[in-house]
Amino acid sequence: MTDKHPLILDIKGNSLDDGPGIRSVVFFKGCPLSCVWCHNPESKKTGSEIAFDPAECVGCDTCLTVCPEKVLSRRNPFFIDRDRCTLCFACVDECPSGALSRVGREMTVDEIVAAVVRDKPFFDTSGGGVTLSGGEPTLFPDFLARLLAALKAEGIHTLLETCGQFNEAGFMEQALPLVDIIYYDIKLIDPDLHKKYCGVANRTILENFIRLTKSAGKGKFMLLPRTPLIPGITATPENLSAIAKFLADHDIKNAQLLPYNPLWPAKNQKIGIAEPKKTTDDSGNWIPREQIMAYQSIFADHGIAT
Ligand code: SF4
Ligand code: SF4
Repeated sequence: MTDKHPLILDIKGNSLDDGPGIRSVVFFKGCPLSCVWCHNPESKKTGSEIAFDPAECVGCDTCLTVCPEKVLSRRNPFFIDRDRCTLCFACVDECPSGALSRVGREMTVDEIVAAVVRDKPFFDTSGGGVTLSGGEPTLFPDFLARLLAALKAEGIHTLLETCGQFNEAGFMEQALPLVDIIYYDIKLIDPDLHKKYCGVANRTILENFIRLTKSAGKGKFMLLPRTPLIPGITATPENLSAIAKFLADHDIKNAQLLPYNPLWPAKNQKIGIAEPKKTTDDSGNWIPREQIMAYQSIFADHGIAT
């Protein structure tokens, strides 16, 4: 049994968008998928990273002076030569404006629980709790199980957001008994397209989902499949019809269509990744309400409310 220790990207309190009630969201760093539209690109790698936000830089040049490797340069479009950066974080410590930052920090289970438990009165009065997100929390099965157990010991409602690419046996045994709600992403049904756009085939994801539908039917937890609407990739009539049919075949009555965030490419630049190319169908705008209603009707035709 592995006990990989995750880095935590952030803990966001007072969220109203990540499950029922008022919630604190714990973001794990590291994901087995690599979706081209990922709006949290800093969550893809498991290790520490350094981020640079040019909008925050005041041009003091302190970082250029303190960097022992001399890998910072204004001629570099990403400012930092990450191939030569040793992640000593001397520049981050000295940057007066916060333009340079460390991405990912080690936290123990006790530290995470201490950070969220102070909001328990808000969880209790609103029907909220803690949402574990990422990245992908199931990449760290032992840590995840210990964290869930500690949250449950405090009487805190738990919600897990997952891409579904996990070891089924370990998950069912360790984490599932401690989860109240699972938000489960189903992005693409075609295995080749899934591999093309998410970096891995979707066989494990779909098989794990089917297993979970059987456990959810026993009423122990709530399972909500979700599909992000990405123009020209997931948001096509063919893909949405195939997902709706797959869900209906497994007796799913509710799903969620996640609105598309057109601002996602800009975050890549901060951690040294060139902005990915958008699809030809991507206008860079929010998807109009009428279009979303058309997508919802595809699911409604299969008896699924979104
Ligand atoms: S983390 Fe260290 S090596 Fe990397 S750019 Fe900053 S000072 Fe230089
Ligand atoms: S230390 Fe921070 S504010 Fe100063 S030049 Fe470097 S990144 Fe910009």
